[in-house]
Amino acid sequence: VTEIQLIGVNKEYKGDGTVTDALKDIHLNFHQQEFTAIVGPSGSGKSTLLNLIGTLDKPSSGKILYNKEEIMNKGANKIADFRFSNIGFIFQQFHLLPTLTALENVLSPLFSRRVSFNKKERAQEVLKRVGLANKMDALPSQLSGGEQQRVAIARAIVHKPSWLLADEPTGNLDTETGKRIYELLKELNEQDGCSVLFVTHDPNLAANANRIITIKDGTVISDECQGGGT
Ligand code: ADP
Ligand code: ADP
Repeated sequence: VTEIQLIGVNKEYKGDGTVTDALKDIHLNFHQQEFTAIVGPSGSGKSTLLNLIGTLDKPSSGKILYNKEEIMNKGANKIADFRFSNIGFIFQQFHLLPTLTALENVLSPLFSRRVSFNKKERAQEVLKRVGLANKMDALPSQLSGGEQQRVAIARAIVHKPSWLLADEPTGNLDTETGKRIYELLKELNEQDGCSVLFVTHDPNLAANANRIITIKDGTVISDECQGGGT
């Protein structure tokens, strides 16, 4: 997918008698190979936005189009196939499976999927790509936080998605380690052509993105493009 359009997207969460308007009338276009930071206060709707774009959740109203096509109105298998082909996710808390080695974690999204490449070779290739050539057989508990996030990034790109969605990927890491993870995402964008959308609390990281979207109380309050570079 080369273009994602959000048209009048609303998302409400219904609790017991309460309704939270997490996103209100969002209009946004995302293009291939952008490197976009999403910033804003806690609870402003950033994770919700990423989850909707990543087809993990449906808008309450409005549309999200992927190359002009709506996906969330299709069946669960179609949605899962779409996500597998197009989207990679990275989270603050890594979400690695603790009993699996780094290599097995990276292989896990490919389980029971038919692909045109050799799964193990591909998993080894992406682990090398993120700088973990000599940690493939380590368990997550044997790896540092930075290394665990690198495994999670390898897992997110192993199926060759065109979009990488990262929800505070550096939020659980010290500043220096976080900076190196950020640089890896930037490399994947510039060298490997991945479109990257990442949520961050760190203004210094956001400042180096090509585009900065600021969200507050469920609305976009600014959307700025800049030259980029570091
Ligand atoms: P952010 O990522 O900017 O911190 P979120 O997208 O997580 O914001 O949350 C936006 C709003 O929606 C918040 O008020 C939050 O409490 C609420 N919210 C998020 N997820 C849920 C949920 N699953 N059920 C109910 N409310 C939710
Ligand atoms: P990074 O910069 O990637 O976070 P560190 O400098 O923190 O890496 O870690 C250096 C080495 O120490 C790593 O190779 C890792 O294997 C090991 N290490 C770090 N933290 C732990 C831990 N909690 N348990 C086991 N090994 C660790």
